[in-house]
Parts: sequence; C-alpha cells; structure tokens
Amino acid sequence: MAAIDRSKLDNFISVALGLKFCVSGLQNFILDTMETTHQNILQQIPVGFCNINCSRKYGNGFSQWCIICGSWKDELNKLCRYKKQRDKINWKEIDTIDFPHSTPDSYEAISKVFVRDVHQFKQGIYQDLGAIISLFMNMKTFSFDNQILVDIQRHRNDSFAHNYRVSLDETEKKLCLNSFIRILKVPNIFCKESAKVAVSLLEELVLSEGIPTGLLQHQDALDTLILIRDSFEQLSPYTDLQIVAFSFAIDTFKDRINNIILKTTIKPKRVTKNLVSLKTRNVLKCLSLPLLSIYIIISFISLKKMDSSNEGCYSMRFLEHWKSDLDFDLYVETLNNESFIERRWLRDIVDKQLLEANGVLLTANMGYGKSSIISNIVCADRSSVCKDLQTRKYNEMDA
Ligand SMILES: [Zn+2]
Repeated sequence: MAAIDRSKLDNFISVALGLKFCVSGLQNFILDTMETTHQNILQQIPVGFCNINCSRKYGNGFSQWCIICGSWKDELNKLCRYKKQRDKINWKEIDTIDFPHSTPDSYEAISKVFVRDVHQFKQGIYQDLGAIISLFMNMKTFSFDNQILVDIQRHRNDSFAHNYRVSLDETEKKLCLNSFIRILKVPNIFCKESAKVAVSLLEELVLSEGIPTGLLQHQDALDTLILIRDSFEQLSPYTDLQIVAFSFAIDTFKDRINNIILKTTIKPKRVTKNLVSLKTRNVLKCLSLPLLSIYIIISFISLKKMDSSNEGCYSMRFLEHWKSDLDFDLYVETLNNESFIERRWLRDIVDKQLLEANGVLLTANMGYGKSSIISNIVCADRSSVCKDLQTRKYNEMDA
C-alpha cells in the first residue's frame, strides 16, 4: 500500500473543521426559530408549570400526565411532519418539565421530540449536524428543499463520519464544503450573523490547499482539532476493509493532527531575526541546546520546590514530556491568557464536590470552558478566585 498523502489527510481535517463551522453557523437561525415557535405554542397552553416531569416518570402512559405536559405534547405532535416518526418518540428521553420555560435549554428539550435516536447525541442536539438535519427534516416549522438536506447528510457520512481512510481527494473536500455553504446561504439562514461568519470561514477552506493557518487561530477550530484527535480512537470500523484502512492510517493521522495543534498553540516570535547579527545568531545556535537542557533541569528542580506562594502556571507536563510532541504547559498557558471570565460559580461547585470526593469529572458541550477552568486553576495567581482550589489540590498531591 502506498504511503498516505499528507494533503489528503489535511482535506479530511478541513472537512472536520467545515462541519464545526457549519454547525456554529446554523445556531442563530435555529435558536431564533425555536424561540418564536416556543412563544407561539405557549399561547395555546394553560398557564403554569409541571413539577413531576411527566415524560420521564410515566413515559408513554399519557393518561397520567399533567395537563401542562399533555398540552405541550399535543401541540408538538401537530408539528411532526411524519406520523410514523410521531409514534416513535421515546418520551422517557425527554424532559417535558423544561418545556414551558423560555430558555435555550427548553428549546433544545422541545427539539428532541423531532430528532431520531436522541440518546446518541451526547454533545447536545444543536451541536451535531446529523441531529440538526434530522430536526429540519422532521419538524414542520422548518421548510427546506429536501435535496439540500439529503446532500449534506450524505456528504457528512461519506466524507467524515464513515470515512475510515481519514483521507479525502480535493474534489470530495470541495463537494462536501460546498454542501455546507449551500444550506447556510438559504436566505432565512444567511440573514443571521452566525451564518455570515461561517460562510466566510468555509469559503476560505474551499479555496485553500491545505489548512489555512489564520483559520486555526479561532478557538473553535483548535477545540475541534483536539476533539477529533481525542475521539479518533473511538471510531469503530466494522468491515475488514475498514479495519485495514483505519489501522493503516491512524498513526500518520495522529502525528499530523498533533503537529498542527502544536503549531497553533505556539505563538510565532519574529523580533530576534533582524536585530541579531548573523555571527551572534550562530553562536546562539550552538549554545541553544546546552542552554535548553540547563533550563529543563532548573525548571525540574524549581518544580519540586514549588510552594503555594509561587506565581505563574503549575506544570502540566508528562513525566517524560520531551518524548512527546504534546506540550500541555504551552496549551494551558495560552488558554489561561485567553480566558477572561472568572467562573466563580463553577469554582464553588467544584470546590464543594471536592470536599466529598477525590475528583470531579467535568462534562459540557464544546466551548463551555472545561479546559479554561482547568487552566485557571493551574495558573491561578493570588488574586484569582481559583487560588485556594489550586493550593489545596497541590498540597494534597504532595502529601
Ligand atoms: Zn407534567
């Protein structure tokens, strides 16, 4: 078998980024449409809230549902495009208790009525293009040219979700990205800000050979790369052919994506080049390796001595980090520099949980700041709301 073409790997990564941009681009339109729909339905429903979450408690035993939940169900049933799909709704996976509230959480709970196999979308309905397309197809509120939706669904599956070669030809990449652009350019969608931003990013992807570096400066793009890398090994090829293709591609792919992530997290420095003479530069070059090792040794010693009064980020490096391409220190520092929200509320929750257990597992959709809070803790300075959390955890680790 021939070696894997790097540009084809990059095409695959471009499509993955394109998917993310497309999903982000659709957000304004979905939320605005759902908000209007919600308001309209609310006028048909008796005033009040449910306090037992009828759907979870009674499932399809509709006769036991309260009047509020029952009315919501009737109104939403009217919006189902296909009767068959209406009969398949798994009410035990949906929270009718959320329906009457006018919040994005409530809109998402309502959307679940129209999405098939809701349980498979762990990141949330609005964060998965497959779920979004399902919503568009099944909910009468949305009226799209069916061909647009079918095309997107097919490209998403063939080029990305079921593509175990993790490589794509230039033509395939363009077809796929263009199908994303086509839906975002539907007039009702394109008038929204998020769609305009996404289209310009997607057009840049279509026109570039390889992955445009400027694009990777978006936190969204970087998060996507990290997500793809981390979820990559969970792909499950099932035919022999897929297994062969997958095991052949996986190492090259991992190297490539790590390389891109690493390049993105290091900010380029340009100052030295013109200020330092050629001679000095050569001297520096010879010096740099020994200097680097001294630096590593010093950092290592100072790490051991580190106490809670120290400023700056604590090290997140692997024990033998020089063997790896990944440097979490740089990543954490960059993240911390970029995050400016205090998240005091989250600090309080984590703090409370840690009193009762040895660890906490944070789960949330992309972009909610899981990594940022970790970076805030690791890099907490004296004035930070995360300072005592940092001190406590590190002291416990010492003990
Ligand atoms: Zn109820």
